[in-house]
Amino acid sequence: MFIKKMRVCGVVALISAVCFGCTADKQEHYSYMTTFAMNTIISFTIDMPNGEEEIIFSDAEKIIRGYENMLSVNVEDSDIYKINNSDLGEKISISDKTMEILKVAEEFEDLTDGDFSISVAPLVTLWGFTQDIEQTVPSYEDIEKTLELVDMKDVIIDEDNNTIEFLKDGMAIDLGAIAKGYIAEELTNYFRDSGVLNGHFTIGGNISTMGLKNDGSKWKIAVQNPVDINDYVGLLEVTDLFVVTSGGYQRYFTEDNVRYHHIIDPKTGYPSDSDLLSVTIISDNGAEADILSTALFVMGLDKSLEYWEEHRNFEAVFITEDEVIVTDGAKAIFTFEGQDNDFEYRD
Ligand code: ADP
Ligand code: MG
Repeated sequence: MFIKKMRVCGVVALISAVCFGCTADKQEHYSYMTTFAMNTIISFTIDMPNGEEEIIFSDAEKIIRGYENMLSVNVEDSDIYKINNSDLGEKISISDKTMEILKVAEEFEDLTDGDFSISVAPLVTLWGFTQDIEQTVPSYEDIEKTLELVDMKDVIIDEDNNTIEFLKDGMAIDLGAIAKGYIAEELTNYFRDSGVLNGHFTIGGNISTMGLKNDGSKWKIAVQNPVDINDYVGLLEVTDLFVVTSGGYQRYFTEDNVRYHHIIDPKTGYPSDSDLLSVTIISDNGAEADILSTALFVMGLDKSLEYWEEHRNFEAVFITEDEVIVTDGAKAIFTFEGQDNDFEYRD
């Protein structure tokens, strides 16, 4: 296996955000902006002549900052910071948007049978994925103890009064696997409403594509090779869709030659240990694409395919140690190019 020592930092997020298949043909039509927020790189390419894009980019940045101030676990006074630092029994008032996201998170906890859970936060912290620190594997006892705090049944979400309350001391929530996708969709809506019909952007690997390239073709998005992030196993051709990838190769540390990544199985308390190296979701819903990339990565291939059979409102590309598997609807938009990397394409 691939063993590499890596500390959690912004650079890792940058690598996972690479969209090297998104190419612009007639450069004069495109305007670009890159910024750093939510601990990740955000880059925009929109079809708008230089000079006319300033207000749009400045508004987009304001939207992002607004969400960061509302949702970040690290920003003091954000809704999530207040909840995570609340006293037992204290009801915290939250914004309508935060409530909307929490309701979606709750719905998907149910749909995914708990493989996705924002209540996983205390475990993410225990494993050291919230700070830039030297990480070690926690003790079994600490994991068992922390698991008791991971249960959305102990989170009271009161929609009528827009409040949230924890029933156990030490609980926390983490929107790391949903917020970027939700914000990507909000930004896409903002761009469309502002007359931007063509372009693409990425928020830490959550890619949104709008319309077409100048030459009339669809946007090409490379699906990274999880074993070699400078390489890819295939290309997706999409328009007006979100494409999100989750994988154990994106953030991890290594101890005793074992790799421990940042996606935690809320049932075991350990980094998920399925047969999947990465999951790419293609969907017209940004938040769902983000959620499902994480949730299906935890589920593993068989359960993920069952989930897809049951829902069929998204498409996916799964990568295991030696195979690339795509859902039926993704076959028409995916070109396999992983032959040289020893991947087999399962048709
Ligand atoms: P990234 O944010 O690196 O793009 P993901 O979208 O897969 O990757 O989200 C992973 C993040 O979500 C973790 O860093 C952690 O904060 C949180 N998380 C980890 N495991 C889960 C889980 N099973 N359910 C919900 N959130 C999770
Ligand atoms: Mg995700």
